[in-house]
Amino acid sequence: MQYEADTHTHTLASGHAYNTIMEMVHAAAVKGLKALAITDHTKGVPGHEMNGAPEDIYFRNFVVIPRIIEGVHLLMGAEVNILNGGTVDLSERALRQQDIVIASIHRQCYDNEGLEENTRAMLKIVENPYVDILGHPDDSNTPMDYEQIVAKAAETGTILELNENSYRDPGLRKNCKENQMTYLALCKKWGVPVTIGSDAHFVDVVGQHEHNEAILKEADFPMELVMNTSAEKLINYLKARKARFQQS
Ligand SMILES: [Zn+2]
Ligand SMILES: [Zn+2]
Repeated sequence: MQYEADTHTHTLASGHAYNTIMEMVHAAAVKGLKALAITDHTKGVPGHEMNGAPEDIYFRNFVVIPRIIEGVHLLMGAEVNILNGGTVDLSERALRQQDIVIASIHRQCYDNEGLEENTRAMLKIVENPYVDILGHPDDSNTPMDYEQIVAKAAETGTILELNENSYRDPGLRKNCKENQMTYLALCKKWGVPVTIGSDAHFVDVVGQHEHNEAILKEADFPMELVMNTSAEKLINYLKARKARFQQS
């Protein structure tokens, strides 16, 4: 199986990643990828900061960046932080301009409130029209009810992510494999799309996803629901999502 896109990578701008956009694109081109998402972190809110992440304006000037470089389709976006209560830390003005938005729970910006409240927050995120992808929703440190979340994603078209970083750093997230298997089974049942993200913070990791590939096989997951198998499928899907709020 050929994977044509990586939907989750970071650059220098994130504050704890180490390459430029050009270096990341070059790595993607060398590895034969046709699409690359650059999804830098957002900065959090007072008391819940993602230190070193850029200001809102960074995410509002992507118009200056060509969307095809070295033959790779570039998707300029953000990995926004999910905040307690189910809001995110990027302005609506910026959110509207992103090619791709991942929303993720990070321990710096979100306090675990238990299964019920976490689920309530996640359901609000799924309903947020600007959020395309739920990033690494695979950590038992912030438990959530996958049945409710995936059922809601089936209504909104929100994509669930398989994150390769969850395996790269075993201390980072708890029970990631079991949780991924749980939501993959539900995504299969409800026809909800998934995406693989390398979550590269360094250039060598772009396009790397062997654990997630193995998980898809183990779950016998239908490939037509995997967004990375075709750059065209991914780009068209995201464009169709944007069209929904651009009309409103
Ligand atoms: Zn993340
Ligand atoms: Zn990330």
